[in-house]
Amino acid sequence: MIVASIGNLNFDIYLKVSELPGPDENVEALDLYTGGGGSAANFAVAIAKMGLSARFIGAVGEDPLGEISLRELRAEGVDVSFVKRVRGVRSGVVVVLVHPDGVKRMVSYRGANLGLTPADLTVDKFAGVKHIHLATGRTELILKAKEIAREIGASISVDGGTALARKGLEIVRAAVEGVDVVFMNHVEAQLVANAGDHKSAVEKLARELKVGELVVTLGPIGAVAFKNGRLLHVDAFKVNAVDTTGAGDCFAAAYITMYLRGRDLYERLLFANAAAAIKVTRPSARASPRYDEVVAFLES
Ligand code: ADP
Repeated sequence: MIVASIGNLNFDIYLKVSELPGPDENVEALDLYTGGGGSAANFAVAIAKMGLSARFIGAVGEDPLGEISLRELRAEGVDVSFVKRVRGVRSGVVVVLVHPDGVKRMVSYRGANLGLTPADLTVDKFAGVKHIHLATGRTELILKAKEIAREIGASISVDGGTALARKGLEIVRAAVEGVDVVFMNHVEAQLVANAGDHKSAVEKLARELKVGELVVTLGPIGAVAFKNGRLLHVDAFKVNAVDTTGAGDCFAAAYITMYLRGRDLYERLLFANAAAAIKVTRPSARASPRYDEVVAFLES
């Protein structure tokens, strides 16, 4: 079963620092590590680990970092044969300053990612695809992908992140109308709904958005799903979280896996919470678990 993931691919550079630089100041980093990033790419890796066929649809520049990013995806079993090469632009890079206060400071260069346009989303790239996932706030890509999904009879999910949430309710409503599954974290849900707490945000969005299912993740409290007038909350698992980067992408991939297997709402939430719980115990945005690891976790 092929699942296509549309959106960003980044090369993440983490610099561990003991203090943050002030203007014109040079601070020495204590450590440097790199890793693959970009929500759509992370989702594709998580899907491959779930045992489904993952196809990543995005764009890189003609530079070494883009090549490394693609190689990393290939090594995880993701099909990158439809990734666009954009000339004269560098591939997406994110620099993350990791400070002992636990708060990450990030600078993103979207670069070649922006080179992916609706015109690039052509039916031939989606041959055999059963489900399309968009991890992007770019509404023009979401609208085009909805057309493709309709044409090929695939289901579709959207995780627009903060980029989409910032656009406000009117734009979000138009972008996700008719989408099968919409994912948001609670901060994004509150932002879109202009609500002070996640409960009223979910209630408002459940009324306002015309989607198959609305899934809102609540970090260590778990996640809620709204479908056909029914709201279901499933608690997160108690684990020792060391790195929550990519938890949402891992959650979405596990949820979609259960969705495609025809499992009910409770089983989807339970399985996705379990997958994301395993992920947060491990460093790296792409440290999502394999399908059988999640099954073993649930049986333990
Ligand atoms: P995002 O990573 O998109 O901000 P969340 O922070 O809501 O999303 O996390 C997504 C999911 O990851 C949660 O719904 C939950 O299943 C899991 N999760 C996140 N943080 C923890 C935690 N501290 N303990 C257990 N599970 C967690």
